[in-house]
Amino acid sequence: MTTEKTCKCGFKKGDRMITAKTRYTKGGYFWLSMGFSAKPTEVVFQCQQCGEIVDTSTDEEVIEKYRYNSDIIQ
Ligand SMILES: [Zn+2]
Repeated sequence: MTTEKTCKCGFKKGDRMITAKTRYTKGGYFWLSMGFSAKPTEVVFQCQQCGEIVDTSTDEEVIEKYRYNSDIIQ
């Protein structure tokens, strides 16, 4: 039984329309804006089409995986 969440267009994590984005604390955004690196606190999986977030993760491994090659969500 799968309970994986889908967005309203029917995409789920792993589909091409779902992209991972990193989210930071307020302090993290500050450091980024100053040109320093900061570690994301969370990775979100968001639909490109409708903007709905289908999944989030605060797992260290997931964060490391996406930290340098994902867009930052504001
Ligand atoms: Zn969608």
